[in-house]
Amino acid sequence: MLVFSLALLFAADAAPIKVLIVDGQNNHAWKVTTPLIKKALEDAKIFQVEVATSPPSGDLSSFKPKFSDYQVVVSNYNGQMWSKETREAFNDFVKNGGGFVSVHAANNAFTSWLEYNEMIGLGGWGGRNEKNGPYVRIKDGKVVRDESKGNGGSHGRQHAFLMQLLDTEHPITKGLPEKWMHAQDELYDRLRGPAKNLKVLAYAKAEKSTGGSGENEPLLMTVDYGKGRVFHTALGHGVEAMKCVGFIVTLQRGTEWAATGKVTQTTIPADFPTAEKTSSRK
Ligand code: ZN
Repeated sequence: MLVFSLALLFAADAAPIKVLIVDGQNNHAWKVTTPLIKKALEDAKIFQVEVATSPPSGDLSSFKPKFSDYQVVVSNYNGQMWSKETREAFNDFVKNGGGFVSVHAANNAFTSWLEYNEMIGLGGWGGRNEKNGPYVRIKDGKVVRDESKGNGGSHGRQHAFLMQLLDTEHPITKGLPEKWMHAQDELYDRLRGPAKNLKVLAYAKAEKSTGGSGENEPLLMTVDYGKGRVFHTALGHGVEAMKCVGFIVTLQRGTEWAATGKVTQTTIPADFPTAEKTSSRK
């Protein structure tokens, strides 16, 4: 009996985490970046990754991924509204304990879908403004909400920038260097949204000299949504950003956490960027 139980435990531990990436529409090069997201996850050796691609335009009623077959959904989608059936299935999936990872422009999607905006916490563009919720900034080490009027979502010139941890104890960030240089990317600023049950893990200063807001902007976040967990990375505009070891490691950890509530990938790779120098994989 004991042997039988141990065998079951081992089998459960060894089973890969089932991940579904959704894409098919995005104002970004999703045909190039989805394979990078997939590779980053597969390289962790704990995920089994599939991709669901929506039609490129027109009638989306055929786009009905079976979310409940997976433990976590990773969105590389920023496009037309999904069908009511698909929206409800996705909302049920996360509310009932499924994991969700929002990558970069996935936080531009679905301005008018309230539940989605509660999942991502903060979003940008798509007509977002003060009606969608506050700006969220980090001042003197604290998360501050700013209800002032204005559009949601902007960014300055692409550049490499310094990521800074706000939460060093969360499973996603525990053990990571407190600061590292992220490779060339868009630094999203002025995001706004419901920001309910939102935890900021890491941020960067959007310097005015590069066209930014001048504020410390949240870039890695978590949201508790019903019984589900959401990891939101605002990083990942393109190839340079997604090949950054900091992007890869936080995506791997964030996806595991969203799926299971734990992070077993505790070893920091030797090529993790430092506060002085970016580091990218081929
Ligand atoms: Zn972008």
